[in-house]
Amino acid sequence: MARSPLFHPDFKAAPYWWEAYQPTATDPVDVPARVRVAIVGGGYGGLSTALELAKQGEECVVLEAAELGFGASTRNGGAVSGGVNIGKSFSGKGLSVAPNRAEAMLADGFDAFTLIERLIAEEGIDCHWQKNGRFVGAWTPGHYRYQESRLALLNEAAKSDSYMVPRERQREEMASDFYYGGMVVERSASLHPALYYKGLLDAARRRGVTVCARAPVTRIKREADGWLVRTGRGEVRAHEVVIATNGYTGDITPELKRRVVPIASHIIATEELPADLAASLIPKMRTLSDTRRVLSYYRMSPDGRRMVYGGRPRFTQVGPEVSAPALHAHMTARFPQLKDARITHAWTGNTAFTLDAVPHMGQQDGMHYLLGCNGSGVAVMTYLGWQTARKITGAANRPSAFDAEEFPTHPMYNGNPWFLPAIGGWFRLRDAVDRKLAGMLGG
Ligand SMILES: Cc1cc2nc3c(=O)[nH]c(=O)nc-3n(C[C@H](O)[C@H](O)[C@H](O)COP(=O)(O)OP(=O)(O)OC[C@H]3O[C@@H](n4cnc5c(N)ncnc54)[C@H](O)[C@@H]3O)c2cc1C
Repeated sequence: MARSPLFHPDFKAAPYWWEAYQPTATDPVDVPARVRVAIVGGGYGGLSTALELAKQGEECVVLEAAELGFGASTRNGGAVSGGVNIGKSFSGKGLSVAPNRAEAMLADGFDAFTLIERLIAEEGIDCHWQKNGRFVGAWTPGHYRYQESRLALLNEAAKSDSYMVPRERQREEMASDFYYGGMVVERSASLHPALYYKGLLDAARRRGVTVCARAPVTRIKREADGWLVRTGRGEVRAHEVVIATNGYTGDITPELKRRVVPIASHIIATEELPADLAASLIPKMRTLSDTRRVLSYYRMSPDGRRMVYGGRPRFTQVGPEVSAPALHAHMTARFPQLKDARITHAWTGNTAFTLDAVPHMGQQDGMHYLLGCNGSGVAVMTYLGWQTARKITGAANRPSAFDAEEFPTHPMYNGNPWFLPAIGGWFRLRDAVDRKLAGMLGG
C-alpha cells in the first residue's frame, strides 16, 4: 500500500526520543537469589523506588519484562507538571475527589516537581530540563471560566504560579488563535524523557542496584518470611515486593489489574522545520495542552527544531497509519502553517487511568504498589517511587496524600478495557458539540 505523503521517506515507527537513548537489553544481569526488595517494572516508578532504597542502604532488584525503558517512560511527551492535572476527573470537568483531598494531593504535586528537579541536579542528569512553563488552551469559553475558577486552588495548594491569558493575548503563547484563551502554569517544565530515563538508570546502577532486563515476572507467591518472585530468568526471594507496572499491569496482580484502565496515548514528531517557522510556533518554548476531553499535548523538541505532537485520537493501541494522520490533522487545525511538515516518527504507549482519576500508592495483599499516572506521570511516578521506598525503610516523615486505603474498583470491570473505543468516540462527539455550540453562541 502506498504510504501517505504526510510521512517522511525516513519515517520510523518508533519514538523520536529513541534517537538519543534506545531501550536496551544487552548485557543482561542475572536475577539474584535473594534481596530485601524486588521491584516489578523498570520505568521511572520502579527505578526511582530502587534509587531511593539504595540511598537508604537497602538491597533491591528491578525486574523488567522487556528492554530497559520499554514502557511509557521513554515514550512520553516530556511535559513535567507540578500536579496541575491532579484531581481532574476523567472527562476533564470537575474534581474527581473531595476538595480537601485534592488540596493535599496538589501539595504533593508541588513536592513531586521539587523532587524531580532536585534529582536531576543531584544526579547530574543531562536531559534538557527546561523550566519554561505550560500553556493550557481553553477549548470553549466555558472551559476558560472553569480554568479561572481553579486558579486559586492551584496557586495555593500547588504553588503553581498560574494565571489566565485572554484570547486577545494568546499569540504571546502560540502562533495560533485556535483556543478561547487559556491558563499559563509557570511552575512546570519539559525534559527529554528517554535521557531522563537513562539518567535514572545510570544513577541506580551507580549505587549498586541490580537491574534485570528481559526478566518478566510470571508469579509472585507468599512465603513464611516474605515472597518468592518467579521470572522468565530465574527466581528471587524478597522480604518486600513493589509493583510499578502502571499501564502494563498484567495478570500476575489481578487485583491491581482491575483497578487500572490502560489507555493508549500517541505522538508524532515532524521533520526539522525552517528555523524562522520553528521559532515562531511556541515562542516561549512552553509545553502546551488543552481542555478537550480528548486532549492534545505538544511542544517543540529540546533543540527547538521540530514539533512533537501528542494526543489520544484513539484510546487503544493503533498503528501509525491510523494515529499519525489523525494527530497531523489536530496539529494543523492549531497551526495551519505546518500543513507541509512531514512526520519522521510516530509511536504509542500505555498510560494507566484509575476509577477516581488520581494516582495511588499503597499495599494490596501485602505487596506495595505505585500505579495510575492518569496521563501525567513523569514527576508523579518518580515521586511515588521515592515515597514507597521511604515508606519501606521507615524514612517517610508523613504519609503521602496518594497513599489512600481506598483504591476503587468496579464490579463490572475485570481489567479488560473493551469499552474504550466507545468511550473515545463519545468523548470526541461531545468535544465537537461543545465547540460547535461555543461557535454558535459567538464565544
Ligand atoms: C505517549 C505518552 C505520552 C505521555 N506524556 C506525558 C507527559 O508529557 N507528561 C507526563 O507527566 N506524563 C506523560 N505520560 C505518562 C508517563 O510516561 C508515565 O506516567 C510514566 O512513564 C509511568 O512510569 P512507570 O514507571 O509507572 O511505568 P512504565 O514506564 O510504563 O513502566 C512499567 C514497566 O513495567 C513493565 N512490566 C509490566 N509487567 C511486568 C512484569 N510482569 N514483569 C516485569 N516487568 C513488567 C513494563 O514492561 C514496563 O516497562 C505519557 C505517557 C505516554 C504513553
